[in-house]
Amino acid sequence: MKVIKGLFVLISALILVSTLPITLESCGAQEIIQCKKLTPPDQGVCSVISGGNSLLISGNILAPSEIYIGGDILIKEGLIACVGCDCVGNTQDKPTRIICANGVVSPGLINAHDHLSYDHSYPGSWGNERFDQRNDWRLGKRGHTKLSYENNSDPLKIAWSELRQLISGTTSIAGSTGTKGLLRNLDIGSMQEGLKPVKILNHVFPLGDGKSGTQLERGCDYPQIDGTDVIDNNDCYLPHVAEGVDPVAHNEFVCLSGQAKGAVNLISKKTALIHAIALNEADAKILRDNSTTVVWSPRSNISFYGKTAPVTMYDSLGINIALSTDWTISGSMSLLREMKCVDYLNKYHFNNHFSDCKIWRMITANAAVGLAVGDRIGFLKPNYVADVVILNGSSVTNYYRAVIEADWKDIVLVLRAGIPLYGDKEPMALIPNGQSGCEDIIVNGCSDNKINKTGCINRETGHSFKDLVDANKDSYPLFYCQTPFNEPSCFPTRP
Ligand SMILES: [Zn+2]
Repeated sequence: MKVIKGLFVLISALILVSTLPITLESCGAQEIIQCKKLTPPDQGVCSVISGGNSLLISGNILAPSEIYIGGDILIKEGLIACVGCDCVGNTQDKPTRIICANGVVSPGLINAHDHLSYDHSYPGSWGNERFDQRNDWRLGKRGHTKLSYENNSDPLKIAWSELRQLISGTTSIAGSTGTKGLLRNLDIGSMQEGLKPVKILNHVFPLGDGKSGTQLERGCDYPQIDGTDVIDNNDCYLPHVAEGVDPVAHNEFVCLSGQAKGAVNLISKKTALIHAIALNEADAKILRDNSTTVVWSPRSNISFYGKTAPVTMYDSLGINIALSTDWTISGSMSLLREMKCVDYLNKYHFNNHFSDCKIWRMITANAAVGLAVGDRIGFLKPNYVADVVILNGSSVTNYYRAVIEADWKDIVLVLRAGIPLYGDKEPMALIPNGQSGCEDIIVNGCSDNKINKTGCINRETGHSFKDLVDANKDSYPLFYCQTPFNEPSCFPTRP
């Protein structure tokens, strides 16, 4: 019986792969290619041999469908020029060489959803109360506790929140707001930091229920449902949908997928649904048939609702899943903490449904594809923009685990279009553009470890690190040495 079931799953998977409209090099077909043996430096993860502005990074390279052990990636004028076992032959000039025998080289992480203007806040607290739909806590509906938090767009506070993500290896975000420099703010046209422009419409209230908090179990009599122009006029439509666990949350999807009188059908290949918790299998098939992405925020879902989206079903259907932090109030302080939640759920609640590679793709390739920038970033491939993070992989054997298990201390170097933004003091000091407008930002950060990091905050924002610290005395910190204080729960339970 088990064999027959296995065969059925395999055949279904094959059919799915062959009909998948998004062309992704899939996990499972990875090849591990042994290239050259590299020598680790005496100290730290990477050594640097000075040279010109091009960068030749040697390490363990997470390419789309291969891992090159002791491989190379060559970066020229902000673009990836070569990925493989040997890129030396691809360059006439003398590049700066960054050699990281135990380093893992990944595309810069992409956070598919956040609310940066709230991320100065510490995690909220609502005890054991769990909500059924977001208007329950937003507006205190149906006898629930009303939670409210400060929306603060002070550029120094936003820069602080972007820096918190950057030091965790994130290079791009759809963060609802943003500030110049640091992260690429993909949903803000003027803050994409030189990327070929993308038009993302980030809508928190696609039904216009922000003020009224309308809660309907059936019918689409909402204040104002978005029109189809949101699809026509944008590369990506990114609405909050079905954030909750009850028929009220489900009805939002009904009315945004053309399934009832007065509904509008906004489900398309340009659509990426944030949350999508209260969907059933028939709904999921609509997403699959339209190549719609789901943006998943498990920690925030679980801390508010005790439950998260049916992601194993989504994945079995071949739906593209991108990961996101949502906000510090109910979610994770960084994608690295969000991955700890995913890793825990996968092991103890999802029967290891997701491979390590699949989890890694949720914060790289899947997020890029979902946000309509899959032709620019999210993959280490020639002609892609060189948004790259190098992580310390010295204590892992499976290189995807280096990303999944990393904490902020393991982030060795972050490049945006080949320009260093942040990293360990040693490589930063020797890489072109790693000094001017850059400063030491964390020294002796944690007692167990002397940590010397350099961040190019002044070059990016026009403010010093001290300016940011002074403006964020009451803000949620950039990092914790261990588990973040009062971190929202990732343990699914509904009393
Ligand atoms: Zn949100």
